Amino acid sequence: MDFERLFRADLEKLKEDGNYRVFADLERRAGSFPKAHHHVDGTDTQDVTVWCSNDYLGMGQSAIVTAAMHEAIDKCGAGAGGTRNISGTNHYHVLLERELADLHGKEAALLFTSGYVSNWATLGTLLGRIPDVMVFSDEMNHASMIEGIRHSRARKVIWKHNDLDDLRAKLAAADPDAPKIVAFESVYSMDGDIAPIEAICDIADEFGAMTYLDEVHAVGMYGPRGGGVAEREGIMDRLTIIEGTLGKAFGVMGGYITGSTALIDWIRSFSSGFIFTTALPPTLAAGALASIRHLKKSEMERRRHKDNVAKVRLGLTRAGIPWLDNPSHIVPVMVRDAKKCKWISDILMDQHGVYVQPINYPTVARGAERLRITPTPLHTDADIAHLVASLSSLWSQCALARHVA
Ligand SMILES: *Cc1c(COP(=O)(O)O)cnc(C)c1O
Repeated sequence: MDFERLFRADLEKLKEDGNYRVFADLERRAGSFPKAHHHVDGTDTQDVTVWCSNDYLGMGQSAIVTAAMHEAIDKCGAGAGGTRNISGTNHYHVLLERELADLHGKEAALLFTSGYVSNWATLGTLLGRIPDVMVFSDEMNHASMIEGIRHSRARKVIWKHNDLDDLRAKLAAADPDAPKIVAFESVYSMDGDIAPIEAICDIADEFGAMTYLDEVHAVGMYGPRGGGVAEREGIMDRLTIIEGTLGKAFGVMGGYITGSTALIDWIRSFSSGFIFTTALPPTLAAGALASIRHLKKSEMERRRHKDNVAKVRLGLTRAGIPWLDNPSHIVPVMVRDAKKCKWISDILMDQHGVYVQPINYPTVARGAERLRITPTPLHTDADIAHLVASLSSLWSQCALARHVA
């Protein structure tokens, strides 16, 4: 087998389709978010404004967060020094798990090294260990849930995205004696739509199903204390498990689940993806703790963020640039062509100092290629005007359809 040839042929195919991923070599500079240096060809640097970060509120550069991390590294050093079971549990982990349980109104919480791992490991363990269990998974669920489900080899049923009738029909058609888990997200990151959480819980209850909610794109962002969409709607107690990340709005890194004492203790005790890996560095736990505590009390970041999202949408509408309407903070600008999407993104970066990564297949369906714009509270009015003007000029060059405002 000529492995090298196989690798090169696969990569060639990706490039032909316009789906080859090129990473922007960025140097984020603390205190000047969302500005960054872009390293070009290993020699030059260019100043760019980042418009596609998941550090939605700029907490990754908040002095409150970095001060807590400095303090923790001076106190505890660099790494955790082991798995949670073998010398790696640091007091910061314990404090953070308490904080997370409180954030979601649950008895307990469990940290993982990322949101991806928390979904993969938790669903994998639940579905792998509960006899005869079945999972009902929204068709737009994130790769981390899909992989956890696949790994478990449990029976799975995919229901149509946010479609309550389809969910009910599929639950009703299933073996009534099988234990059931309904897995879904609150804010879906590519279209920015939001699940009807309460109605899904009502249906799950009818069939005695457990509910698993990924609030990755909502924690820190929605609800009076940043507990997510379920907090905003006052229904956190309706979810069996709420999962989140420390890497997006909280600005640091790590993932977690929250739930009952017994459930968390059970995952802690049986989940390979939790047990056999080095614990998060104390610095990350300390930074996340500071970030969560701050966003529990402070509305300022969320309010400014909302204002900026509205300003970006208004600007795009006035320029006739089509964006996908949704009830969240994500502004998908639809290009619907992989090559044009990549081209626009390249020119935005090279000629306008605007960084928006193109989103192509397989992250979204073919024909749904887009620029996924994520305004932050730290973008200025001038940044917004520049983004809209740059997009508008490229829209003409690319002969893309405009919407009449
Ligand atoms: C990003 C993401 C994750 C993974 O979280 P990380 O902390 O980045 O690993 C999980 N679920 C959804 C919906 C995501 O978008």
